[in-house]
Amino acid sequence: MGDEARGLSEDVVDVLVVGAGFGGMYALHKLRGLGFSVRVLERGHGVGGTWYWNRYPGARCDIESLEYSYSFSAELQQDWEWTQRYPTQPEMRAYAEHVADRFDLCPHITFGVAVTTAAYDEDGGCWRVGTDAGDLITARFLVLATGVLSAASVPQFPGQERFRGRIVHTGSWPEDTEVDGLRVGVVGTGSSGIQVVPHLAERAGHLSVFQRTANYSISAANQPLAPAYLRDVKARYPELREQARRSFTGSTVPINRQSALAVDEEERNRRFEERWALGGFAFLGSFDDVTRDPEANRLAARFVEDKIRAAVDDPATAELLVPAGHPIGSRRICVDTGYHATFNLPHVRLVDVRRAPITGLTEAGLRTADGEEHPLHLLVLATGFDAMTGSFVRIDVRGRGGVTLREKWADGARTYLGLQTAGFPNLFTLTGPGSPAVLCNMFLALEQHVDWVADLLVEMRERGARTVEPTVDAEQDWSGQVARAAERTLYPQADSWYVGANVPGKPRVFLPYAGGVGKYRRICEQVVADGYRAFVFDADLTVV
Ligand code: NAP
Repeated sequence: MGDEARGLSEDVVDVLVVGAGFGGMYALHKLRGLGFSVRVLERGHGVGGTWYWNRYPGARCDIESLEYSYSFSAELQQDWEWTQRYPTQPEMRAYAEHVADRFDLCPHITFGVAVTTAAYDEDGGCWRVGTDAGDLITARFLVLATGVLSAASVPQFPGQERFRGRIVHTGSWPEDTEVDGLRVGVVGTGSSGIQVVPHLAERAGHLSVFQRTANYSISAANQPLAPAYLRDVKARYPELREQARRSFTGSTVPINRQSALAVDEEERNRRFEERWALGGFAFLGSFDDVTRDPEANRLAARFVEDKIRAAVDDPATAELLVPAGHPIGSRRICVDTGYHATFNLPHVRLVDVRRAPITGLTEAGLRTADGEEHPLHLLVLATGFDAMTGSFVRIDVRGRGGVTLREKWADGARTYLGLQTAGFPNLFTLTGPGSPAVLCNMFLALEQHVDWVADLLVEMRERGARTVEPTVDAEQDWSGQVARAAERTLYPQADSWYVGANVPGKPRVFLPYAGGVGKYRRICEQVVADGYRAFVFDADLTVV
């Protein structure tokens, strides 16, 4: 991938796509194929989005490669050879670059440019988009493919400016980060922290892991992909992809439809063991009611807690690593390789910053409320993201009447189907809040959104329609459906990024649609079959 600045050859396009991750790349390919002029602006210097930025040691996808990949091209699907069950970040990035080359995407992407403003021009019926490089682009349609876990959440600790060591965030890991032999600290024990810790432990002289909340993590059981298995999947790909699209989670791994309470203890443990051995997210599908019924959930949680106790030598450390106070799965479950056993190493220490919170940084390290100073050369922030809304509202997006998206979503993000929000005509949020996105296989979610938007744009071309946006009523109704789907699960019980609890001041609203991807897809299809029900074409709207 060349990273030379590709100058903007045109400043008026049909569609401007922001972000050259897997959503933006497919949007570019699909829409160009339908005859639209498309330009993509990308702040990084290469394609891949999340998989471009998250280069921390141990970064690896926690969904299986054979499922976490494009399905739109049968040839691509057959040609690309995944090597492992869970692909590493370099493998995901290589895949992104292969796709970009194969479909000749790069000439239409401007790299190294961040979109800073986007204002809807009501008279012109178009978006005027500005960048940090001073470009101004006019587009009829604006597709925000900016990712839902891409706007880093970076805490500011008192005294940070005095710290003589280096501070890095896992979500934008500099490749020249030195670790070998150093005193390293990690703040955060979510998916990123749990992945990076065993790898840092291999290289650091001393590693302190600052844990505020322990999370449930399932062993990945990663392995190389056997040629016979690969051949079998490739032979059955169309059928398997369709099965995933119509499933609850976007995966072909079935959910056991029995209740955990309907079987005796021996059978229940046999099932849990079976799923544990399978590895990864499949564990939550051990029984039908693990994510919905408190008692079924408690039994599953207890099983995982016993696995943690068995993996950790020191009983006090083990108890600290056992999650408490939230149902298993209600915070996004982590998938790990050797995380808990890392704490058996003599140079690795777990620091309980729930008991003694971080009070700030000193010149030499990090200080906690019990007065202890933890000397550090490198502080790794695995502190997550302003999920599902952050990457959208960090751009100064202004819809009708100059209202910003941030203002509109001040009391919680409201969308229709996660695709559009009233008052922002011709603006699309790929896998936006209100869509199942983060609760399923992101590739299938992105492909479905891009295909849906592409069909809509073709429909508008045929109708001669200038603008499209949802009604306020449809948006309110959909917000209600999203909330009700969440209430049928245990998810809202936890303080998690699903509800915005990790970002100070963010309104507590359950953001993803938890009704299942198969159902969501059917709803989107029905909306189209009903003539794009509750979408209004052209500009005869009264909106917020
Ligand atoms: P995260 O799950 O939000 O975890 C952030 C961690 O930082 C939490 O442990 C949090 O503690 C801690 N933290 C934040 N601010 C802190 C502070 N001031 N003091 C102490 N602790 C602090 O973020 P993430 O691990 O980056 O994961 C986010 C999502 O990205 C995942 O859930 C997953 O969907 C995705 N992801 C996927 C992969 C993969 O495919 N393998 C890898 C990484 C990430 P509290 O919980 O107490 O707030």
